[in-house]
Amino acid sequence: MLINVSTLLQEPVGHARRYTADHELVAVPELRFAQEITGSIRLIRSERGVLVTADLDLSPVDLQCGRCLEMFETPVSIEFDEEFVLDHDPITGRRVEVDVDEFRIDQQRHLDLSEAVRQYEESALPLQPLCRPDCLGLCPKCGHNLNTGPCGCAAAASDDRWSALARLQERLGTEDGDGAPEA
Ligand SMILES: [Zn+2]
Repeated sequence: MLINVSTLLQEPVGHARRYTADHELVAVPELRFAQEITGSIRLIRSERGVLVTADLDLSPVDLQCGRCLEMFETPVSIEFDEEFVLDHDPITGRRVEVDVDEFRIDQQRHLDLSEAVRQYEESALPLQPLCRPDCLGLCPKCGHNLNTGPCGCAAAASDDRWSALARLQERLGTEDGDGAPEA
């Protein structure tokens, strides 16, 4: 999504525009990033360019659950305030110092939100994605997804517990016998 800000750049600092994005496409092809944005975008003419205040819903992102390894979709919303700067003064044409990591307005006076959306999406996504807060994960023995129900290992473990109890009962039974140690 490119926003033409040439008119806004002719206006005094503080002048504003409001845009509504409705499933607009943003993309950073070299990083294989593509998203759809919906929400409000406010542009304010600043000293060095345009201050963007965005409040956006993105299309759901596919993530892999860190516990059960299943893929799931998660909704993503982002909010940001970022200044997009010009590398030259729009009136005098004089070059202006711009840091490499600053967002820029291009020569055609277009403002492209794609890279900002990519960066904010990245930081909005969880580092340890979970398909649901109480995801049961995988059985450490057989790798069965425990969200779909217990696996054979659980039954075997409880069998183990029962047989251990039975053995204990047996032992107590024998010790109960005559109580006296064998001579
Ligand atoms: Zn999961």
